[in-house]
Amino acid sequence: MIYLGPAGIPTITKGDTLQGIKDVKKLGLNAMELEFVRGIYLKKEEAVEIGRVAKDLRVKLSIHASYFINLCNPEKVKASEKRILDSCEIGHYLGAKYIVFHPGFYGKLSAEQNYELVKKSCVELRKEIDKNKFDVVLGLETTGKKSQFGTLDEILKICKEVKGCAPIIDFAHIFARQGGKIDYSEILDKVRKFKELHTHFSGIEFTEKGEKKHIPISSNQPDFKELAKELINRGFGTKKRDIRIISESPVLEQDSLEMKKILNKLTKS
Ligand SMILES: [Zn+2]
Repeated sequence: MIYLGPAGIPTITKGDTLQGIKDVKKLGLNAMELEFVRGIYLKKEEAVEIGRVAKDLRVKLSIHASYFINLCNPEKVKASEKRILDSCEIGHYLGAKYIVFHPGFYGKLSAEQNYELVKKSCVELRKEIDKNKFDVVLGLETTGKKSQFGTLDEILKICKEVKGCAPIIDFAHIFARQGGKIDYSEILDKVRKFKELHTHFSGIEFTEKGEKKHIPISSNQPDFKELAKELINRGFGTKKRDIRIISESPVLEQDSLEMKKILNKLTKS
C-alpha cells in the first residue's frame, strides 16, 4: 500500500486534530503526521480518543517530535531525550507508530563522536520505550542541512545497530543536502530490507549549506514523478511493500492529492 497525507492538520480544516483526521479521510487520503514540533498539544485521554477515530477511519498516524532536540550536545542530551520520550508516550496512546525526529547538530565533535552520542541516546531511549511497553518506532530523519547529523548512511548505521529504530527518508532533505541531486534508485536499494517505509516529500529551496525552505512539488525539485515510477517498479502500492509519504509542502494535503494523481496515472498505464 501507498499511504498519503499531510504533515499536520490539512489547510482546509476548520478545527482541531480530530477534524483534521476526518478531513484527511474525506479527501481520499490515509495518513497524517501530528506536528509536536513546538510542543505536545494533546493529553493522554485526547490521544486515546483521536487514536480510536483514526483507527476506525484507517488513517495511519505518526508524530513529528520537537525541533528542539540535539543528541550530539552532551549538555542538551537529557532534555532532548525527555522530549522524544514524551512524544513516544503520546504516540503510544494515539496508535502512531513512527516518532520522527532530527537527531542533532554536529557541533565541534568529530563524526565518530557525534555518531556514538546519537547511538547511545537511541539505546537509552529504546530501553525506556520497552520498559514502558510503548508500541512505537524511533524514526531518525534524514536531515536537510549539512550542519545536521543525518545523512542516509549515518541513519542506516544506527538503525542496523539499534533495534526499534527506522530511517525516515526525507527526499527533499537529501536532494537539498546533495546540492540538487538525488538518486531514488540508490536510496531505495539501501533501504530494501525494510518492508515498510515512512517518508517525507515536498519541493525544496536550498543553498550551499543545504535546505532553505520547503516549497510545493510543482517545483519539480526533486521530481515526484521519478520517485513514483521507482516505487511502482519496486512493488510498493501492492500488498508486498508499504510506504507512507507525508507531504511537507506548504500546501500540505493539496500536494498529497497531486501525488495520488501521479501515482494513479502510473499504475493505470
Ligand atoms: Zn523533519
